[in-house]
Amino acid sequence: MLPPEPLPSRRALRAGREGDGARPAQGPGGDTREAGDGRRDRTRDRERARAGTPILAGVRGRRGIIVAVVAVAVIAVGVGVGGMIGSLNAAAPADGRAVDAAAVAEVVPGATSLPVPAQTSAATAAVCDDPTVTTALAQGSDAEVLSAFGGAATFRSTVAGGGAPCVSLADPAREWVVVNKQRPLVPIDWEPDPVIAPADMQRTVDGRLRPAAADALTALVATAQAEGAGAIGLNSAFRSFSSQTRTYNGYVDSLGRDAADLQSARPGFSEHQTGLATDVAACDGGCGAIEDLGGTPQGAWVAANAWRFGFVVRYEDGYTPVTGYQAEPWHLRYIGPELAQVYHDGGYHTLEEFFGLPAAPDYAD
Ligand SMILES: [Zn+2]
Repeated sequence: MLPPEPLPSRRALRAGREGDGARPAQGPGGDTREAGDGRRDRTRDRERARAGTPILAGVRGRRGIIVAVVAVAVIAVGVGVGGMIGSLNAAAPADGRAVDAAAVAEVVPGATSLPVPAQTSAATAAVCDDPTVTTALAQGSDAEVLSAFGGAATFRSTVAGGGAPCVSLADPAREWVVVNKQRPLVPIDWEPDPVIAPADMQRTVDGRLRPAAADALTALVATAQAEGAGAIGLNSAFRSFSSQTRTYNGYVDSLGRDAADLQSARPGFSEHQTGLATDVAACDGGCGAIEDLGGTPQGAWVAANAWRFGFVVRYEDGYTPVTGYQAEPWHLRYIGPELAQVYHDGGYHTLEEFFGLPAAPDYAD
């Protein structure tokens, strides 16, 4: 745990907002579960700073939250707004998670990125103060973090219940990141490094994925073939902010904006930008269109078995009100084998319900 740092001055708080020039883009959980300390947070702070997102570098962890509580009180007195604290409490979710910074800004002038004092339970504090957990979050792999929580099932239930504010579902470097129409990548043009071409499969483009996802897709394709489902090939994988701009604009040009938004993510809001998502196609005698996968043996096999390799079918039929997208049986999202097994065993159909996040049918604007 880092030592407490001095309170930010009102001048510093205002500079954090006014120097930005615009409200930072962020989803409902985009900045609420990042109170953990350590190297990853400092790296993220630097990335946010480069992206123009206002930050309070000294506000971290439980002590940071305490600092924020005092800072909010100081501001309240300074601007003479009666009842402000009551408004803040009313805006805080009952599950103990911090509230969206934009909501804070409605009642605390100049405090666009202050964490809200959360009503943390003793259990919550125990998890995020556990040295095994904090060390794994600061230095360990995603699998080591899951292990520190006692396994993927406990990790999921703790995070979904709001009991692990030190875990960020907005960190694009994590396999558990959730990107949707309310949760853009932060920073908006983030890119994974490295990404590699999955081996031993047919492909229609030179698609690349993060190494774990690439290896998992190779195993998925080989197993599908071995189990009689036929050939599966890669259609699309990592797309940068700029390439997603071209993809999305192409849909808008041909379909109009409303229809495009049901089929293609706006740049900065695509899972493909994480390097963890891939579109696959049936490739017997040459690869078909991704839209044709659903009616094939490969499509049925993928729906039933993708979890075995760490993938989930991200946009299932019937869940457009949650995901904001039409069914895409070809779009696979890698979340790692441990979490994918929990997802499968629990009968989940969206990452939003899996992690207790709000539905994201539409963009904020
Ligand atoms: Zn896709």
